[in-house]
Amino acid sequence: MGVPSRKATATMRIFDPHIHMTSRTTADYQAMRAAGVAAVVEPAFWLGQPRTSPESFADYFDGLLGWEPFRAGQYGISHHCTIALNPKEANDPRLLPVLEMLPRYLAKDRVVAVGEIGFDSATPAEEHAFATQLALAVEHELPALVHTPHRDKAGGTDRSLAVVRESGIDPGFVVLDHLNEMTVRQAADSGCWMGFSIYPDTKMDPDRMVRILREYGTERMLVNSAADWGHSDPLLTRATGEAMLAAGFGADEVDRVLWRNPVEFYGQSGRLELEGAGDTDGTAADAEPGPPPGSYAGNSLLRGGG
Ligand SMILES: [Zn+2]
Repeated sequence: MGVPSRKATATMRIFDPHIHMTSRTTADYQAMRAAGVAAVVEPAFWLGQPRTSPESFADYFDGLLGWEPFRAGQYGISHHCTIALNPKEANDPRLLPVLEMLPRYLAKDRVVAVGEIGFDSATPAEEHAFATQLALAVEHELPALVHTPHRDKAGGTDRSLAVVRESGIDPGFVVLDHLNEMTVRQAADSGCWMGFSIYPDTKMDPDRMVRILREYGTERMLVNSAADWGHSDPLLTRATGEAMLAAGFGADEVDRVLWRNPVEFYGQSGRLELEGAGDTDGTAADAEPGPPPGSYAGNSLLRGGG
């Protein structure tokens, strides 16, 4: 796809329900806004470098709740987050106190789900963290974002669904993410929401996504870029919308998948604040991107914080 025109931008509103903006640049924010992205949810996850103390998580969570929404706001994008001890780091016993820290964070505005939780290598430590955090989601009446493992997808998804069922959480409060053709049927039958991460050249691409939408419909479907510090592209949500239109889906169906579905899913938290975000005729969409005045904790974006 080429660079979207301003006219096309005005008619496609996009909510990326899973993107790690902490590892993206201001140029990404600018390009996303120009492509129609007006809202994002940033799940707490692994940062590449393993953390060695629970305090590192506190600082990270505070960043997801403070600095990153401020940064997104400079580009007219509404930012929310999900909070959790991720599956990979759940294997480090030094980090177990993070689980005790979570209730304090789950009570905060702009935390719209517990996540990412689930399995990475399917160890007993991961299962303990997964089940404990599903219980927290139930207790705090929050949705849960469940990462399905990239290896042994079908088996890992089955095991994830077993833990979800065991927890007693309403499946309508759960999204199973990183699904593909192998796992979509299990997820559809479970009553959970179905999340698909679109990648530049592996796993799942816009055309494969379109074929899944044709077969399974648009209900309970969430499409995200999952962009982070790895090889990824924050504009693949937009590319999927374009691929849907090219395949004959109507603009209303694109809007449902790329905007109304994430609003409905995360709206169950009661904490989505979208203000004018996504208004196709509103000033937010037409605002010139770029850092306006303002600061967070005494720091502005003007010098890149250097
Ligand atoms: Zn992720």
